[in-house]
Amino acid sequence: MDASIAEIRDQARYVPDKALIQLQKMEPAARAAAPPTKAEFLSQLSNAWRALGQLETALLLSEELIAYGRSQNNPAILAKGLLTKAYVLSSMADRKASHQLAFEAEQMANGTADLALRVQATITSGQSYAEQGNFPAALGKLQTAVDLGRQLDDMVPLAQALNALALLYTQMKEYDKGWAVLDESVRVAEKLNSPGRLATAKGTEYGLAIDSHQPKRALAALQAGLEVARKMGAKTLIANTLVNLSDSYLKEQDYARALRYATEALAASAETRDASTRATALINLGQAHLGLGNLAEGRKHFEAGLVYYEKTGDQPELQVILKEYGQALERAGDMRGAVAAYHRERTISEALFEKQRQKAVYEMQEKYETEKKQRQIELLSRENQVKSAELDNKRLQQRVWWLLAVVFALAAVIVGLLYRKVRHANAQLEVKNLELKAQSSLDPLTSLYNRRHFQEFMRSHNQVDKRGPGGEDIVGALFLLDVDHFKHVNDTYGHAAGDIVLKMIAETLRVALRETDMIVRWGGEEFLAFLPAIPRSGVEEIARRILTSISAQQIVYQDHVLSVNVSVGFAPFPLVPAETPLPWERAVNLVDMALYLAKAHGRNRAYGVRGFDRFHQTSMEAIEQDLERAWRAGYVDLSVVLGGPQDPTPPPGEHSNVVQLKPAIKL
Ligand code: GH3
Ligand code: MG
Ligand code: MG
Repeated sequence: MDASIAEIRDQARYVPDKALIQLQKMEPAARAAAPPTKAEFLSQLSNAWRALGQLETALLLSEELIAYGRSQNNPAILAKGLLTKAYVLSSMADRKASHQLAFEAEQMANGTADLALRVQATITSGQSYAEQGNFPAALGKLQTAVDLGRQLDDMVPLAQALNALALLYTQMKEYDKGWAVLDESVRVAEKLNSPGRLATAKGTEYGLAIDSHQPKRALAALQAGLEVARKMGAKTLIANTLVNLSDSYLKEQDYARALRYATEALAASAETRDASTRATALINLGQAHLGLGNLAEGRKHFEAGLVYYEKTGDQPELQVILKEYGQALERAGDMRGAVAAYHRERTISEALFEKQRQKAVYEMQEKYETEKKQRQIELLSRENQVKSAELDNKRLQQRVWWLLAVVFALAAVIVGLLYRKVRHANAQLEVKNLELKAQSSLDPLTSLYNRRHFQEFMRSHNQVDKRGPGGEDIVGALFLLDVDHFKHVNDTYGHAAGDIVLKMIAETLRVALRETDMIVRWGGEEFLAFLPAIPRSGVEEIARRILTSISAQQIVYQDHVLSVNVSVGFAPFPLVPAETPLPWERAVNLVDMALYLAKAHGRNRAYGVRGFDRFHQTSMEAIEQDLERAWRAGYVDLSVVLGGPQDPTPPPGEHSNVVQLKPAIKL
């Protein structure tokens, strides 16, 4: 069926009456066929009706095809429908709407893979541009159509494209190019073995020949074309050729022949109902009459033809015709009519000129606006670049701040941790220092204060005389102890036993004295006790307690039972021989001398300096030189406290050492 429709396609153009009969025969089958076949059928049916002048029917069919394309959602069918309608509208002299549809159809066809359709749509769009007077656009389209056409196996679209291009070159007065294209067009038509195409090519040759001032060739082409057309029975083509024949005889000023062909053409166009051909026939008829001097007849036909051109609004065509009309009237001697025709022609010409000028201005404005917009776009994009760079910058700054904040926070945490560590270390150091200090002021064996600590203590110690509850004299007191025959313990039981004895003495003193009393390991087996506040009358009692509490202790060491005695020297502190109290060193020195006396007088006893008498008759130096003599002389008041029973095992030979002294003072 596709092949039969393809065969009918050229028939519909040249012999539509024959085509219509065949199309109507195949209508039921074609309408039931696949969408592309049905579409092509509807298109050809519309074309046939159009060629027969049944424009309303043709229009309805084209609209049916458009609706079908839409319902199938098929752009190729839709484009074909739009093209078909564009042809009908063109035949209806609605050029503007026709052009619109042609451009729309081309755009849509270009989106499909249907190459034949694209060629056809591109030709139609090119012809529309040509009709608008836009030759450059028309040329571009038609050249594209030729290029596309060459790619097809079917040569009909190429023949159509070449013919349209040759016509355009003619219009553009590019005759050489026109002839070259025409040559190819004729070759293609011969290859196609299509009389219709050949006739069309002859028509185009006529146009080229006449415009390039080759009247003989023009006439020959027309005669040849007419012959082919008549053989084919192509009524439209016959009508067109007849019009052209009359046209060419008019140019030859052979008005009689022109009249004959124009009359024939008018009859032929009436049969084909081709308004355009009819209008041209009428104008030629009018011109022929005018040429023959039939003024009224001429004017009547001319004016009748003009109506069509005024209706189509084809201003350039109208302008050309009006000019010819004026010339013809002038030749016929109708000056008034000629002037009127010229005036109409001028008006159109000026309007056209103005239109073209406006178009040029508009195009320039358009170009300017486009460039301005382009510049604005560039400016905006540059502005945007700057803004985005600023934004990037801001983001970067924010990141840096965040980073800094994090770094500071971390640093703060680390500093905090370090600070805590340092504080902890400091606290530990303080403890250690205290421990160290304690250690440095304590004797390691007995844990009593050492001599150095006592010296430090006494340097800051201020003795204040106090009174007890019963008006009693409260004084400080110093006691200095030395273990009797300690060497003997060491020698007999060993140094370790000696150490145990020393620890025992320290412990015993702690128990015997108060916590507020300061007990010091003064030297090897010497101890010093400083009692800051005791009643003056209780000093001897303390001395006795020291003696007895130590000698009462028994130490079991390696199956031996040990016990020791001590000798004690003591004195109240401060000692005031005259106005000023003695410094603590001299007081201790005096106590040491008393201890020496205790040793010398038998050990296991305590000797105490109670006070001074007639001090102005002696001196401290003299007393210190020999305490015993000063005591005997009555300058010093001493008290003696005896310990308990003697050590059961005194070292040999020591007893003879006892010095018997008569105490000068009562105990
Ligand atoms: P006297 O009754 O005259 O004091 O006789 P003594 O044996 O105690 O004589 P002296 O004071 O000369 O001797 C003291 C001895 O004490 C000498 C020394 O070896 C000993 N000694 C000193 N310090 C320590 C010590 O820390 N531990 C022991 N085990 N012995 C010590
Ligand atoms: Mg000693
Ligand atoms: Mg001793």
